[in-house]
Amino acid sequence: MRIGVIAIQGDVAEHVESVERALAERGETAEVVTIKHKGIVPTCDGLVFPGGESTTLGRLILREGIDEEIKQAKEKGIPILGTCAGLILLAKSGDSQVEKTHQYLLGLMDIKVNRNSFGRQFQSFEVDLDVSVLDSPYNAVFIRAPAILEAGEDVNVLASIDDKIVAAEQDNVLALAFHPELTEDMRIHQYFLDKLF
Ligand code: GLN
Repeated sequence: MRIGVIAIQGDVAEHVESVERALAERGETAEVVTIKHKGIVPTCDGLVFPGGESTTLGRLILREGIDEEIKQAKEKGIPILGTCAGLILLAKSGDSQVEKTHQYLLGLMDIKVNRNSFGRQFQSFEVDLDVSVLDSPYNAVFIRAPAILEAGEDVNVLASIDDKIVAAEQDNVLALAFHPELTEDMRIHQYFLDKLF
């Protein structure tokens, strides 16, 4: 079993650590590798797309040719977790601001995203979030977080704040507007790992 963390930019080390911690917690072993170049994604059984800056991430995965490999992994049914900027990259479309900049999107989920959705005064915050697949609230950390404005009917909405969707899944792809790699609570990672083991 091999889990790859896209390591082009963003909070890569935190993701590697938390996947390793979650694996240890469930008594499983797997190799956790970082992905900077083409050729590694096809060897992975699960993929994690960290937060960072989505325009930069998009540009660099295109330049490295990793974009097509991720799309193929999605088609093969490989579980993919995207957080924050990772969520943005997974989207099929964006609001007018995103469209205007023509930033690259992988289009793996039928969702429409809005960047930096929670405004200046709230650029970073924590909230006890009800997540439909967890049995009690999850302390979710949001950092200049995006939100999903619209989701297609094949998308399963897992959590919202008012009218903004902040966690959703479609087939093998799980997208979160917040950062589960920054908290001790491993339940979101376990939910992702459940798809692999
Ligand atoms: N605001 C960033 C973006 O648009 C995402 C922030 C994050 O990943 N923490 O791309």
